[in-house]
Amino acid sequence: MGFTTLLVASLAAATSAMPILNPIQMMARAGPVAGQVITKCSAPGQLALAYDDGPYQYTQKLSDILKNGGAKGTFFVTGTLYGCIYNQKTALQSAYSAGHQIASHTWSHPQNFGSMSTADLNSQMTRLETALVNIIGVKPTYMRPPYLATGGNVLSTMKTLGYRVITDDIDAEDWNGKTPAQSQQKFQQAGASGNGHIPLMHETYQGTVETLTPWLINWAKTNNLKLVTVAECLGDAGGAYVNGTGNGASTC
Ligand SMILES: [Zn+2]
Repeated sequence: MGFTTLLVASLAAATSAMPILNPIQMMARAGPVAGQVITKCSAPGQLALAYDDGPYQYTQKLSDILKNGGAKGTFFVTGTLYGCIYNQKTALQSAYSAGHQIASHTWSHPQNFGSMSTADLNSQMTRLETALVNIIGVKPTYMRPPYLATGGNVLSTMKTLGYRVITDDIDAEDWNGKTPAQSQQKFQQAGASGNGHIPLMHETYQGTVETLTPWLINWAKTNNLKLVTVAECLGDAGGAYVNGTGNGASTC
């Protein structure tokens, strides 16, 4: 290959590798694409502990256990599933301040999420956004669908709303009556290698908060896994939230 050919080839490679983006393209490139299902982290060496269905009576305790263990967790919260979200306002603010990620698990956790109209899906998301702006001052860009339902209008609506859709790659099955010991086996079977796990767990079970979580913190240390938020494990540390508009409400 002559010098000129080499130069042209290099320029072509550089151009294709680093296209010049306009600002809208730059924004679109920041973090994971909205409306596509994400099951695990984008790189090895990390574990994104993720908990659904709160806030509830264990939210503060879980936040503290994670913080004391040097871990960041992700809380996929609802508006009304285990009581009104404003009842746990202080715990949510504390978890947010501790650096845990607060994400959406819809307003009321509908059983028919995968077959709802776009208007109803929008309402489920925006009602929680407003409450979270009231409580922590920002709205989330990450969500996990109730029952991991990603059919019907879910993905197209989440794309429009700018939500990154998270499911899981390990199901702790705490929701299915598994004991913490049985959940631990699922992590051991999955192993610590490969891109980081995003497990499905629930902060509404005492065993998950008080037994499984300390065990996972220890398991991560033993396996040299960094305990990070879902956004962090997707290379999107600064992208977990956007600004939103609250309405001053303090009741559901
Ligand atoms: Zn749930």
